Amino acid sequence: MKPFTYSRASDADQAVTAIARKPQGKFLGGGTNLIDLMKMGVETPNELIDINRLPLAQIEELPGSKGVRIGAMVRNSDLAEHQLIKARYPVLSEALLSGASPQLRNMATVGGNLLQRTRCYYFYDPAFPACNKRKPGSGCGAIDGYNRIHAILGQSDQCIATHPSDMCVALAALDAIVSVRGPKGEREIKFEDFHRLPGNTPERDTNLAPDDLIIAVDLPPLPFATRSYYLKLRDRASYAFALVSVAVALDLDPNKKINAARVALGGVAHKPWRAHKVESEITGKSADEKTLRAAAEAELASAKGYKYNSFKIELAKRAIVRALSVVAEMS
Ligand code: SF4
Repeated sequence: MKPFTYSRASDADQAVTAIARKPQGKFLGGGTNLIDLMKMGVETPNELIDINRLPLAQIEELPGSKGVRIGAMVRNSDLAEHQLIKARYPVLSEALLSGASPQLRNMATVGGNLLQRTRCYYFYDPAFPACNKRKPGSGCGAIDGYNRIHAILGQSDQCIATHPSDMCVALAALDAIVSVRGPKGEREIKFEDFHRLPGNTPERDTNLAPDDLIIAVDLPPLPFATRSYYLKLRDRASYAFALVSVAVALDLDPNKKINAARVALGGVAHKPWRAHKVESEITGKSADEKTLRAAAEAELASAKGYKYNSFKIELAKRAIVRALSVVAEMS
C-alpha cells in the first residue's frame, strides 16, 4: 500500500477545508471499498481524512413533509432496519438488506455506498494494462474480454462497467436528492444527475468535485412507496452483486390500473438506471402480463450485449415483469 497521512475531522467545514488543502486526499467513512482499493494499489490517496466523528448519522423526518433525511454517516444496517424506512420506503430497506454481508453493512455508510466503485475485474488489477477507468487512455479490457457482469445499457466504447450498489437503485426509483457541501457552501443534486454514464470520461463515476462532501440524502414524500419492492438476481443468494436488479413502486387504483410508477434497474449500466420507458408505458394501463412485457421490451430496445453478458437482456426483461407483477399483487 502506498504510504499516506491520516487526520480526523470533527465537523463538515473542517473536513471540506482539509480536503481542499490535499487534492489527492480521500474521505474515510466505513472504508469497506476504499481500503480494499488502496491495498490493491487502485486508489492511492496521499491523505485519509476520517469523517467518522461528523454529526451526520441521523435519520429524521424532513420538516413540513412526510419525507425523510438520511445523514451521510448512517450505517447501511441502521438505515435498513429503521422504522421510518421500513414503513414508508420498504424498497430501500430490501435493497440494503440484499447487499453485502451483515458485517459490511454494519460498517458501510450511506455516503460511501453512493461512491462505491465498479467491481469490473480489470479495474481491480493494476497489473492489467487496459482499463480506461483506472488509467485513462489505456483501453478497456472488458469489451473484448470476460464481460459477464458488465453493462448492457448506456455504455461507451471507453467503458462498459456497471455500478455495484443496490441501495442506489432504490434511491433512483425514489427520486432521492443528495445534499453536498463544498468550499462554496451547500447544494443539492438530483439523484439522477449524481452518477454519470461513462462517455469519454469513464474515470469519473459521479458529478461530485474532489473537494465535495456528501452531507445527506433526502427522500421526498412518496405515499405509494409503501407498495414497493426490490428484486435482485445474482449468482449466489448469500453474497453477490446483482446481475440484474429492479426497484419498483406502484400507485394502483382498486381495479389494478396503474396511476403512477417508479422503476429503476441495477447491474445493467454505469449508473443506477431509471426505467422511464417502463414508467411511461405502464402508466394509465392495467398491470397485466402483456402490458408489463411490452414495457420491458421498450426499455431494453436499445440494449447491447457482449460475448458473455447478452443473457442479461432477456434476464432484465423478465426481472422487470416479475418485479412489477409482485408489486401489483400486493394487498
Ligand atoms: Fe476498465 Fe471500464 Fe473497461 Fe472495466 S469496463 S476494464 S472499468 S474501462
